[in-house]
Amino acid sequence: MKQNYPQSVNYLFEKAELITFRCIKVLFNKVLTEEERAMINLHCGKQSFPIARMNQQQEVVYLALKEDYPFGENCYLSLGEKNCFIDLSSIVRTKEFDERFFYNGTDLGAIYTKEETTFTCWAPTAMEVRVVLYKTWYTETRRMVMLSRENSGTWRVKIKEDLETVWYVYEVYVNGKWNRAVDPYATFVSVNGERAMVGSMDKTEPAEWPELTQALKLNETIIYELHIRDFTIGRNNGIEGKALYTGLTEVNKSDKEGNPTGLDYLKQLGVTHIELLPVNDYGSVDESNRFTSYNWGYDPVHYFVPEGSYATDPYNGYTRVRELKRLIAACHRSQLRVILDVVFNHIYIWELSHLEKIVPGYYFRYQENGEISNGTGVGNDLATERRMVRKLIVDCISFWMKEYKIDGFRFDLMGILDLETIKSIATTAKNINPNVFLLGEGWDLPTAFPEEKRATTNQAKDVSDIGFFQDEFRDALKGSTFHQTDTGFCSGNETSLNQILAGISGSEYRFLQPAQAIHYVESHDNHTLWDKLRVSLPKELPSTLMRRHRLATSIILLAQGIPFLHAGQEWYRTKYGVENSYCSPDWINQFDWERRRLFHHYVSYVKGLINIRRAHGAFRLETYSDIHKHLEWMVTDPLCIAYSLKNVNAFGRWNDIIVVHNANEKAKQILLPKKGNWEVVVDENSASLIPLYTLYNKDYVRVAPLSTTVCVQ
Ligand code: CA
Repeated sequence: MKQNYPQSVNYLFEKAELITFRCIKVLFNKVLTEEERAMINLHCGKQSFPIARMNQQQEVVYLALKEDYPFGENCYLSLGEKNCFIDLSSIVRTKEFDERFFYNGTDLGAIYTKEETTFTCWAPTAMEVRVVLYKTWYTETRRMVMLSRENSGTWRVKIKEDLETVWYVYEVYVNGKWNRAVDPYATFVSVNGERAMVGSMDKTEPAEWPELTQALKLNETIIYELHIRDFTIGRNNGIEGKALYTGLTEVNKSDKEGNPTGLDYLKQLGVTHIELLPVNDYGSVDESNRFTSYNWGYDPVHYFVPEGSYATDPYNGYTRVRELKRLIAACHRSQLRVILDVVFNHIYIWELSHLEKIVPGYYFRYQENGEISNGTGVGNDLATERRMVRKLIVDCISFWMKEYKIDGFRFDLMGILDLETIKSIATTAKNINPNVFLLGEGWDLPTAFPEEKRATTNQAKDVSDIGFFQDEFRDALKGSTFHQTDTGFCSGNETSLNQILAGISGSEYRFLQPAQAIHYVESHDNHTLWDKLRVSLPKELPSTLMRRHRLATSIILLAQGIPFLHAGQEWYRTKYGVENSYCSPDWINQFDWERRRLFHHYVSYVKGLINIRRAHGAFRLETYSDIHKHLEWMVTDPLCIAYSLKNVNAFGRWNDIIVVHNANEKAKQILLPKKGNWEVVVDENSASLIPLYTLYNKDYVRVAPLSTTVCVQ
């Protein structure tokens, strides 16, 4: 039943706002007389709600209520003939609101069985909520069913019918108007997420969920970051599902010379985890016409649903879910674990977000002056510290792990998130899978929340389960990402030595355990390493730049901590100088299989380094005390670092390992610490578990300019 609501605002009332549970602040367009003030009435349905007293300050009147404001009732103010609704969009940000209305149920969303479907929506400030049902995703013929208000600000209705594949949206009457919103807990949506679908997760299961038979400790992780579309779209890669989830499930695919592509390429490279740029639903690509635009996907809309532009049929609510599950199953079959890049720091266009429409004012951070906080730089910051936002995030992590068997998460702009939320995530995720890998960007950004309570790198020692991108090591290797021409150790800068030593030994100054240190020199953000070297050393020959490039990659892959590679780093990926390619065309962003073929030698080199790292635990010691015990610096000249990993036969086949990184343009002779024969497993050209050659009773090893050498005994 539709009720009649008063006109929202009129000339006498400017605004009425609930500011505590027992106080309404009313702004009039003039100073009221005593008689006028006496006529103010607070209506609650057909009753009058008791006002204890009034306090007038010029045009503002504060109404103190005798009892707590009756949320969910049809309340409005009147003065004679004039009416005004009561705005509830700032009371939602008070502590008392969060305490009163926290709902800890597991039934938010549409819970389907063949016999009945229950819709549960959290909307404490709403006066009415109804679900609108449609037979198809496009038809306008609708059927409305009212939800009734229940505990903790929830609204619920049970419909005793088989509603499978019925589409729905909510309509919520709040703050004087009707808002139309898609269920934030929807697990199936239509093209571009305009409607949610009722469905059964059981119908989306892949034929099998292959076991991950190779046990893996956290410190054995090697991450490889890729974008579904970039990785599959290229020509001559043999992949049929271009820009699609299915593209990453295809096996036995190769380029025209027979080199493996797609999933097989990742498998033979030897990385342990692939990290997917966002695959949960985002707003910037039109799913009905996906090739008209490109985006990385850092603009989330529906958190519990996969993005539709990678699905073969974005119109069918089931397809994207089935296809992403098959992709993850295919990765697991190849013993590759999957990390999702999740964006809980902001939402695509907050004013239009479904969260804002259902509980206006609740989900985002605001500055003291009332403006929306924008520490992310993309328009809004999600208020993760609020209890129902935290719950949404933790529920979401749990859902992706249980339903999609996700093995890890990378938190975009994690420094925006509050520490308590990150800790809740870690606890929940580790309960589901003790080996889950969690990492994030701990940047300190100007959001409206105290820095010491945010998950920034400065707080890393408070959250030892979480990995952090180590930007200081990254910049020390190649130069600051913020200054194009800045150089680092690998580009001949003699001033970054101390940062390099700290990075190689696991960045202990920032973390509690080496697995927290995510070591990288390139990611989807900023210039690729190749482009960075080109702009910072514009006069240098490509052949020299390539040596520097390999040196940087070798340092990352041999350092203590967790190595992180950006797809294509192993063949000098270029984006043709484009620094921020988040919406650049495919030809700039694509994984260029032709270039990969051209630099096959480098790919083999990286593969060799990965094999060596995986074969010997000395390259990935679990504790800082082990690092202190076994890692010994030998030569640390400003552009040449030599160290030994000594007495390490407890961790693998060799007892002593010498690693030399020479960033000089001249060869270096390094004195070997012990007599005997040393086998060389890495030199300027090759990296292989099978030794390349042996140094028989030599005192010195010669390390070529701009290169890495590893000798073992
Ligand atoms: Ca989308």
